[in-house]
Amino acid sequence: MDSLPKDLFNPLDTENFVDESSRVLEFIADYYKNVENYPVRSQVKAGEMLCTGLNVVGFNWISSPAATELEAIVMDWMGKMLKLPQSFLFSGGGGGVLHSSTCEAIVCTLAAARDMALNELGADKITKLVVYGSDQTHFTLQKASKLVGINPNNFRAIKTSTLTGFALAPDDVRATMEADLASGLVPLFLCATIGTTALGAVDSLEEIGQVAKDYKLWFHVDAAYAGSACICPEFRLYLNGIELVDSISMNPHKWFLTNMDCCCLWVKNPSTLVDSLSTSPEILRNKATESKKVVDYKDWQIALSRRFRALKLWLVIRRFGVANLMEHIRSDIKLAKKFEGLVVEDERFEVVVPRKFALVCFRLKPRRSEEDGSKLNWKLLEEVNSSGKAFMIHAVVDGTFLIRCAIGGTFTEERHIDGLWKLIQENAADLLLFKNG
Ligand code: PLP
Repeated sequence: MDSLPKDLFNPLDTENFVDESSRVLEFIADYYKNVENYPVRSQVKAGEMLCTGLNVVGFNWISSPAATELEAIVMDWMGKMLKLPQSFLFSGGGGGVLHSSTCEAIVCTLAAARDMALNELGADKITKLVVYGSDQTHFTLQKASKLVGINPNNFRAIKTSTLTGFALAPDDVRATMEADLASGLVPLFLCATIGTTALGAVDSLEEIGQVAKDYKLWFHVDAAYAGSACICPEFRLYLNGIELVDSISMNPHKWFLTNMDCCCLWVKNPSTLVDSLSTSPEILRNKATESKKVVDYKDWQIALSRRFRALKLWLVIRRFGVANLMEHIRSDIKLAKKFEGLVVEDERFEVVVPRKFALVCFRLKPRRSEEDGSKLNWKLLEEVNSSGKAFMIHAVVDGTFLIRCAIGGTFTEERHIDGLWKLIQENAADLLLFKNG
């Protein structure tokens, strides 16, 4: 963290928030009042810019040097906060880009991996390429595979179980790849997850990365939710093995106090993305691009135009500071721990999967041995949600229906957890009374 600017650690001053917001409004109003006085094309040279930030489209460097340079800076800051290896940072030959979603990030990395493989194997081999995740991987991987032309029969959702805490087991990954190789298929892309959607499970990057290395396929990490927690030293261990990874994505719009939409994607080798996604129409020809000294982010994403997401993320980092962002994560985790404790204390309930982050997976224990508890828990969930005071969703894992209590609201406090638990207990008591009556 030494290399981040010291004032990123400044505490959040909430009292100034309204005042600063009105100054931003004044600034925007002033900009439009004087817009005719500004040169249309940026006057700056690479390296020298400040963010101006109004209706910026920033598809290539020349269309908005400030937006491009700020994005590169912010992505390096974020990478440093996560202690990513230097090879993922611009300063180390890699680089990062802000996408709208993890789905977009995975489509782009899959396209890069596909084109690299097909350059070697020949375009007709696309039907042979195989993509791997687990049965806990977000469905976005399957969707992205379909979008880049992977044969739907060549998508592998490798089964996980309680034995590994619903993480990918390296032996199972190897066995699946061996079987595919034996039938003439080609392993292409493997996705591990830090904080799976349903349960918050974590795949071991060290173990799975070794498999990826042995089978020479693209290794991506989806840290959409829990990546934010890895800025805290006590959670950084989940990124151990990151040096074995080709690309990693996380969504600041999930747990990093950033508004929709914002997904960070880092790649070790940006030229693989550019080779797959770049277009050079005459209309976009310019000296900066031809100098090859600048980043044209249009070649790192699907669309041409793009939002100025870097400004949003820059503001979050500058406004809150790293220390407060860590505090936000820790506070949510503390609240989740408290909720988990309340569940454990009440013998009518159980925690179904061990908690790692701010997600607690729990249920009312089935009353009789022949009952799986799904109807009871579904009813409990419906009752709680229809109160309008809380909203949770469910998951079904290994045939077990569970309720997911995810804590991540900006203003969630202990009293909200107490209120939620009271609501759950009251509804559970009514349901159990009704059942016994
Ligand atoms: N990956 C994980 C682990 C998620 O939890 C989610 C959303 O819940 C996604 C991917 C999908 O993210 P996006 O909507 O940004 O594509």
